[in-house]
Amino acid sequence: MGDKINIGIIGCGIAANILHWPAIKSLQDQFTITAVCNHTEEKANQFSKLVGAEYSKDIPIYLDYKQLLALESVDAVAIILPIELNYEVCKAAAEAGKHIMVEKPIAVNLDEAKLLLELEKEFPDLVMMVAENFRYRPVYAALKKTIQKDLIGTPYYVEWKNWANVDPKDNQYARTSWRINHQYEGGFVTDGGVHNIAALRDVFGDLELTGSSKVQVNPKIGRMDTFSYLFRSKGREGIPPVSGLLQMFFSVKRKTSKSLIILGSNGSLEIEDDTLTVFEGDDDFSISSEKFPDDGGYENEYKDFYSVITQNTKIKSSFYEAYCDFETIMHALKQANQL
Ligand code: NAP
Repeated sequence: MGDKINIGIIGCGIAANILHWPAIKSLQDQFTITAVCNHTEEKANQFSKLVGAEYSKDIPIYLDYKQLLALESVDAVAIILPIELNYEVCKAAAEAGKHIMVEKPIAVNLDEAKLLLELEKEFPDLVMMVAENFRYRPVYAALKKTIQKDLIGTPYYVEWKNWANVDPKDNQYARTSWRINHQYEGGFVTDGGVHNIAALRDVFGDLELTGSSKVQVNPKIGRMDTFSYLFRSKGREGIPPVSGLLQMFFSVKRKTSKSLIILGSNGSLEIEDDTLTVFEGDDDFSISSEKFPDDGGYENEYKDFYSVITQNTKIKSSFYEAYCDFETIMHALKQANQL
């Protein structure tokens, strides 16, 4: 393998087009797409043309991922498929000797997620990472540093309002049949909520469930779309345990919000639209506010993949971390289902 990594793309849907391709395009000194695969030809052709136009050459297409995995011209793969295919395709990719970046959530259920941890052990020379972009977003790294610097005193409570209105009429994700007819527990709650869990775990440590509740508001987007998760964190790296509430609400018919608030003994912090604001005292006096330029973390994610493959650095979004994110949400859903 030369300095550049030859990467094959498996799955040419929404995320490949609007999230992965912009990141790979901006890192042409690190990655070259050498083959693309989609089981339906039209999408494979469209993606191949998109990439080919940038590289000024034809990019071969494959309808069967096993054919792409057999290519010597592919060192690594980005697996961007419906979640239920993650285990099968990761296993085939490892057996073909390819480094793996696979989209989140890590698997369709905990049994397959555990098998992926086994796969990682079986192929220690291959890099395996989950594309959990929230681990790479600068605003959450800044949040952690701000708390560690003691700017709000001792943090004691976190509230994350993840309110969205996801409807097939104006949201392309809600038109993907694998999401609506989800084979994994939780539907959009799991698909979207796993990002919030990853960011919370990165900043506050592992989360212990203290309560949960679920509602189905819009059956058009699956069996569950509204979930409240109450937790107590374990704390990490100078950050003490906190209590918290994460709302993963995907059918909200009012102003949507992604607001994350942390209350501390001397002030508070808020993140809204990638802007981190520090408030001091009890009358909401803002002492600083900074917007963090952010592509969602996708470019950083690929930089990390490159660095782990070429320089053997420690991977940030390992299969293990992604397993823990997924396990956290599966455990909470299980409890909510028993109520
Ligand atoms: P999508 O648009 O449905 O893309 C999946 C693609 O895989 C489709 O083009 C589909 O083709 C193709 N496909 C299905 N079965 C295949 C097979 N056996 N072999 C080859 N191709 C096959 O879904 P998406 O929104 O891109 O999501 C894909 C993955 O990205 C999911 O894991 C999702 O969780 C993740 N994602 C992550 C983020 C993020 O922020 N990190 C955001 C969005 C999505 P057809 O449509 O023609 O069947």
